[in-house]
Amino acid sequence: MLACLDLEGVLIPEIWIAFAEKTGIDKLRLTTRDIPDYDELMRGRLQILDENNLRLTDIQKVIREIKPLEGAKDFLEWLKSEFQVIILSDTFYQFAGPLMAQLDYPALFCNDLEVGENGRITGYRLRQPDGKTKAVEALQSLNFKVVAAGDSYNDTGMLMQADVGIFFRPPEGILREFAQFPVTHRYDELKQEFRKAVVMLTQ
Ligand SMILES: [Mg+2]
Repeated sequence: MLACLDLEGVLIPEIWIAFAEKTGIDKLRLTTRDIPDYDELMRGRLQILDENNLRLTDIQKVIREIKPLEGAKDFLEWLKSEFQVIILSDTFYQFAGPLMAQLDYPALFCNDLEVGENGRITGYRLRQPDGKTKAVEALQSLNFKVVAAGDSYNDTGMLMQADVGIFFRPPEGILREFAQFPVTHRYDELKQEFRKAVVMLTQ
């Protein structure tokens, strides 16, 4: 049995919101919670970075100050003792490094930024469209059962594909559309749902 976890909003704060706060650029606060179309969201972000002459190093500087959510590290440690854990994230390897160090380097499947001369972010490269869902599908084809947890629109494909899907601190709006998943707000509740999933999948 494998556990697949979203990263931002589940183990760490939203990187772009932290960056918006640091720069005071309100429009950078939008996340997959607000704009379900990831490409539209990313194109908007890159345009704002350009308009404000912000480079990769400016974002990395902010990321180095981000700490995992309170309790996240202990939760992840517990999860790793019960499951093999893979983080499935729409973030970028160029962002994730310092955060992975704080989480003891779990396996991370994410994407790449395209960075031009002078550190300008010129674009981004998804390994494949809908990578989270495809990853779960691929793991299931290796005869793993997958329990997945995430918080947002970009997780719903993964949660539906998984043998068991769990929401963690989702925004209100999403609950009406995806009422089938249990909703958790604290790590002990999330733990409980993972335990339930094990019982369900081993019956
Ligand atoms: Mg998230």
